[in-house]
Amino acid sequence: MNLILFGPPGAGKGTQAKYLVKKLNNFQISTGDMLREEIQKNSEIGKKIIKDMNDGKFVNDEIVNTLIENVIFDPQKNNRLIFDGYPRSLSQAKNLEQLLTKSNQKIDFIFFLNVNKDTIIKRIEQRKTIEKRSDDELDTIIKRYDTYMKTTKPVLDFYSNNPNFYEIDGSSKIEEITAKIDNFLTV
Ligand code: AMP
Repeated sequence: MNLILFGPPGAGKGTQAKYLVKKLNNFQISTGDMLREEIQKNSEIGKKIIKDMNDGKFVNDEIVNTLIENVIFDPQKNNRLIFDGYPRSLSQAKNLEQLLTKSNQKIDFIFFLNVNKDTIIKRIEQRKTIEKRSDDELDTIIKRYDTYMKTTKPVLDFYSNNPNFYEIDGSSKIEEITAKIDNFLTV
């Protein structure tokens, strides 16, 4: 089973992805984590990535799509993918469809965790005290949210007619969101 967790930064995608990894024995495919790993390598690409991330911008599609392609064609992960933070733009959504078709896979569930800006700001400021991420500064958070809203609206439109698309109130408690996801998975 392949799933997409979709929603603004701080919506709780990572938390739910970790739950689903255990429940389904799948793999969490977090493009944010993969990009942070590239930064750790201190490569030229890593330097470009950190600049975009700290500016609250999206990292170039070419870089992200290459990372995703490697994962999709990894036989160990075949049909065991939980996408967290990808796709984030219409071109990424189209790229994902193509790669899945090419590898004889499909998306079984798309969960949209919908959360408003005020809740996101509160949550990320809290996360900042725990994770100390360089892109969790207030002005970067606001930029990240605004970038998300601008570029992901077409992605929402792309998926919202899909029969496997489910919108969930992401401002609810973690356990309530998990229960809703569980419920959809058994339908
Ligand atoms: P995240 O950990 O998902 O909140 O992502 C942190 C940052 O990594 C984002 O603000 C972007 O700069 C970058 N990033 C993560 N996923 C993507 C993606 N699918 N496309 C472009 N940039 C991304």
